Amino acid sequence: MISFPSRLTRGIEAFLHHKLIDLKKKEKSLKESDPFFDQQRTGNNSLEEDVDEQIGRFETEVKISFIKKQIVQVRKALTNLKIGKYGICEKCHNMIDTDRLAVKPDTTLCVKCAKDKES
Ligand SMILES: [Zn+2]
Repeated sequence: MISFPSRLTRGIEAFLHHKLIDLKKKEKSLKESDPFFDQQRTGNNSLEEDVDEQIGRFETEVKISFIKKQIVQVRKALTNLKIGKYGICEKCHNMIDTDRLAVKPDTTLCVKCAKDKES
């Protein structure tokens, strides 16, 4: 089995840690921007305001769920780094193309398996 040189994985680990912190910050600020979290919000909104709030809330939820997925993905990649499985496809267990890892360091699927998942 080919494993990545430690100087390389350390760089990736640092990058992923940074990304994780960034994602958590984004998640937090999105949650805070949700109008339903606003305690000061008035109970007698016009219908228009309510609709705006609903749309805003939906958009926020979509964004948060997208960020949550990314957080899970980054954590998975970090775990793989720790256990020496980084760069190995979690589905077919082949090595993931290094070009792909360079573009998407938090990926845990090879190109083929990622395409299978999409279709
Ligand atoms: Zn694969």
